[in-house]
Formats: sequence, C-alpha cells, structure tokens
Amino acid sequence: MKKVLLLVLSLAMLFSLAACGRQAETVQATPQPTQEPVVSSSPAEEPTTTEEETAEMTAEETSAEVGVFDLERGVVLLNSGYEMPVLGIGCFMLSNEQAENSVYWALRDGYRLIDTARIYGNEAGVGCGIRRAIDEGYVTREEIFVTTKMWTSDYDNGDAAIDASLARLGLDYIDLMILHHSQPHNDVQAYQAMERAVEAGKLRSIGLSNYYEPEDFDRLVSAATIAPAILQNETHPYRQSLEMKEHIAQYGAVLESWFPLGGRGNTQMLFNDETIAAIAAAHGKSSAQIILRWHLQAGNIAIPGSGNEAHIAENFDIFDFALSDEEMAELTAIDRDERFADY
Ligand code: NAD
Repeated sequence: MKKVLLLVLSLAMLFSLAACGRQAETVQATPQPTQEPVVSSSPAEEPTTTEEETAEMTAEETSAEVGVFDLERGVVLLNSGYEMPVLGIGCFMLSNEQAENSVYWALRDGYRLIDTARIYGNEAGVGCGIRRAIDEGYVTREEIFVTTKMWTSDYDNGDAAIDASLARLGLDYIDLMILHHSQPHNDVQAYQAMERAVEAGKLRSIGLSNYYEPEDFDRLVSAATIAPAILQNETHPYRQSLEMKEHIAQYGAVLESWFPLGGRGNTQMLFNDETIAAIAAAHGKSSAQIILRWHLQAGNIAIPGSGNEAHIAENFDIFDFALSDEEMAELTAIDRDERFADY
C-alpha cells in the first residue's frame, strides 16, 4: 500500500513538473556558507536540548538578536539560527498557474520569502515559479526562503506529508514548515515528525499557525524538543495580536501575519480607514504599503497575497520610507481585536 502511495506521489510530481514546461529535476541545495545557521547558540542547533530545557527557554537564554528585525536587510534572525526575510509573497487562493507567476514575479522584484501550504493545492506551481526565477538568474536556491504548511488531516502521517510537500515543490529542503492549525489530539505527533525532518536535513525551521491562546501554544511547546521559530496567525491593524506576540517572544519565536491586508473582501475597509489613508497621503504611498510597513516596524513578518503583477511590485516597495513613532502609535491605537476569518 505504502509502495503504491509512493508511486502515485512520484507520478504526480513528475506530472506537475512537466506541467511547468521546464526541467523535471529537483533544485539541489549545494551547501553554502550562507545556508548555515548564523547564531551558534540558537536552541535548534543544540541537539542535546532536552524537553525540559526547551520548555524553560526564556528570552534571556536566546540570543539578544533573535527576533530583532533588520529592516535595512529585510531579515529577522529566527531561534533556529536561520535568517528569514520579513516580507514575502502569500499564495492562498492561487491556482498552480497563478502561483507560478506570482512567485516568479515576486522573486524577480526582490522578494525572497514565499508562503504556501499543502491545502492551497499549489505547491507544484510554487516550485515552477522558483525554478523559472532560478533558471533566469534572478535568485539562487540558497537566497530564497520557502515556507509550506502541514494540513490537519496529515497529522497522523507527518513523515509522509513532509516528503510529499518536498516532492510537489521539487525541492530537497524546505526552509520553514508550519503546522497549519492547532489540533490537540494529534498535533504533537505531527510536530515531532517535523522535528525528525529537521534532524534529517529536510526542514530547516519549524513553526505553528492558528494557535490563539497562550496555553495552547505552551501545550505544544512543552512536548517539543525544538522551540517553534514562528507563529503564523491572522494579524492586521484591526487585530494586532499583541498578547500572543509578547507571549511567544519568551521562546524567541516571531509572529508572522496572515491576512496582513485584512484578506480578500476586507482590504478596502482597511485601505479606507481614516488613520491609514491619512498616513498614506502624508508619505505619498498607498494604504497597502503603509499597512505592510507598519507590520515590519511592529515586528510582524508579512506575506501579502496577490496574483496581480502590479500589486506584487507595489507591496515590496516599502523599504524607502519609515513610519514615525507618532504614526506607529496612531496605528497601534486602531486595534479593535477584530478577526475577519472564523478559523
Ligand atoms: P491578504 O491580507 O494578503 O490580502 C489579499 C488580498 O489583497 C487579495 O484580494 C489581493 O488581491 C489584495 N491585494 C494584495 N495587494 C494589494 C494591493 N497592493 N492593493 C490592493 N489590493 C491588494 O490576505 P491573504 O492572501 O489571504 O493572506 C496572506 C497570506 O497568508 C496568504 O496568501 C497565505 O500565504 C497566508 N495565509 C495563511 C493562513 C493560515 O491559516 N496560516 C490563512 C490565510 C492566509
């Protein structure tokens, strides 16, 4: 049965790679100095870290630089020791063809972070976009940071789910894999599969998504050997996730915002918010750019989604200005803890 499954997966991968119309090889990871963790004291690099030690990790015990955003370079150092770009392209609701184009345009325009998920059904398209950008010389594999997520129905078969994502993406390692949702009856099991994959060199950093209570995050961490590097939750100016951001910082974990612009159907509400629109006018920027700049200055990684070439370029053009302390305070004040999604 297992053999049949593997055969089906391999065929699916070959088919999807052929659908790119390009080479059907995986993108090899030739180890480069830049791929190595940059901080030797990071928790994920300590193979001897015990569960107890991980659970007791505090901000003092992690490097002072972990979690600090460097907006000159557009990166943040994770507790895994790897640097992660702080602005990326989101691929929710994109077909394989759209994802290929969005990823290709994004990498061409300077993005280095890509966010997809098994459940989006477009990992193969994302892989095609990556290979196109590499083939055309815009980036190397080592320069980019690819995130995907394990879906809840795969939690009992985490090892196979990781291999299947690698195959669909056409990569031989994934920079960050995240559990898509809290699922107390078997998410620890799935997380442990990701920990094994880190040991095996298939994953570099691991994290969580959709854990909204500090106790729920701690439940998972207390069973983990490797502290989550990231918590990806719905976060935007109307829901700023301040409590969870502060809570996870004790583990050196960084908040990543999904729905950074409010998500499909909600963006106009945020774009037309009086405070956001006034700050946008003052800087000669769009509301989307102000919101994204706010995320980065607030210490949130942002992954705006788009299948629109012009929007993708616009969303990355936020490194030539800064919001003042007063503007940041005004934006903090519009938080109303409002979620747009019900999951
Ligand atoms: P988003 O907040 O990024 O908003 C996307 C919407 O904004 C789209 O309709 C897009 O067309 C529009 N848009 C983008 N840039 C624009 C611009 N400059 N001007 C005007 N409109 C613009 O929402 P999202 O894409 O759903 O979320 C971002 C990413 O987060 C996703 O693509 C996905 O990768 C991830 N995500 C994760 C989860 C999770 O459960 N972990 C859930 C949803 C999304």
